[in-house]
Amino acid sequence: MLTRSALIYLSRQEGLKEFATKFPPFKKLTTRFIAGENTEQAVAAIRDINARGASASFDHLNESVSSVAATEDEVREYLHLLELIDETKIDSNVSIKLTQFGLEIDPELAYGNARQIVEDSARRGNFVRIDMEGSNVTEITLDIFRRLRSDFGLNDVGIVLQSYLYRTMDDARELLKIPARIRLCKGAYDEPPKVAYPDKKDVDDNYVRVMKLLLASGTYHGIATHDPKMIDATIDFAQREGIAKDAFEFQMLYGIRRDLQEQLARDGWGMRIYVPYGKHWYPYFMRRLAERPANIWFVLKNFLKG
Ligand SMILES: Cc1cc2nc3c(=O)[nH]c(=O)nc-3n(C[C@H](O)[C@H](O)[C@H](O)COP(=O)(O)OP(=O)(O)OC[C@H]3O[C@@H](n4cnc5c(N)ncnc54)[C@H](O)[C@@H]3O)c2cc1C
Repeated sequence: MLTRSALIYLSRQEGLKEFATKFPPFKKLTTRFIAGENTEQAVAAIRDINARGASASFDHLNESVSSVAATEDEVREYLHLLELIDETKIDSNVSIKLTQFGLEIDPELAYGNARQIVEDSARRGNFVRIDMEGSNVTEITLDIFRRLRSDFGLNDVGIVLQSYLYRTMDDARELLKIPARIRLCKGAYDEPPKVAYPDKKDVDDNYVRVMKLLLASGTYHGIATHDPKMIDATIDFAQREGIAKDAFEFQMLYGIRRDLQEQLARDGWGMRIYVPYGKHWYPYFMRRLAERPANIWFVLKNFLKG
């Protein structure tokens, strides 16, 4: 049986990535988690999500981009997306990864590229979320976020924290002082015990602790999880503390726990769906399988059914 670590390892293998993205049958497997390879397909998915009472966040899939020209393509893609959101009047913001904008080439390049997106988005009254990646880039990602946050307003740009990292409670306390809008998730990368809780129970306990801190802060945050235990704890806390349903939002990934997405939206909780699309889906797709290796059999079964 493939383990979480093995799947995350495979997600970083360039050779496999090349093979998988060019092999049409493999592509077919991804439709559960990826909204499509082009913008039109992603817009159609978001219209459907909006019709079911949820808002969305576009994610143009690409990470660890290694040429300056490719980072410029990413900037163009996101500027186009922001324009498209206005034109089509869909309810969506955008999520970006700093490695997509050149973080591993030069942090200044990533900052400059991200700044262009946040500036255009702020002018349009939209919002940019900076995803959090592996722990090797946590510090620099937070530094760049803090610079952007000082250039722009609270409702222009936000960040993500991962409850599996030991440092997250301290980061949350510091970011709330600015203040900052935070998406809280558990964390999707393979991290060593030196920096991250190895036991799921500790990750979950930390999630609940940080969730309470965020909700009590009075700033609008995103509670990103499919875990019914985390969701129940959030609803309990909000109800006990008299925190309004529209004072924060739940967030889930495209294609995961659609039943729960719809239920929470029907119950009047804010719900945002993260909608990934694009040709570079391989590492994202493999991380989703890593979260739930049982999904391998699910996608294979659907594949064999044709
Ligand atoms: C909106 C959003 C944005 C995110 N952004 C980031 C980010 O910037 N950085 C980052 O590191 N991570 C990010 N993540 C991923 C996150 O860190 C987790 O890896 C992922 O959400 C799984 O954790 P969980 O909270 O759902 O709980 P888990 O403990 O993994 O799962 C709880 C339950 O949720 C369901 N479930 C979870 N995953 C799946 C799946 N793949 N398929 C089917 N069912 C599943 C199952 O019922 C499972 O028992 C994001 C997640 C969301 C929802």
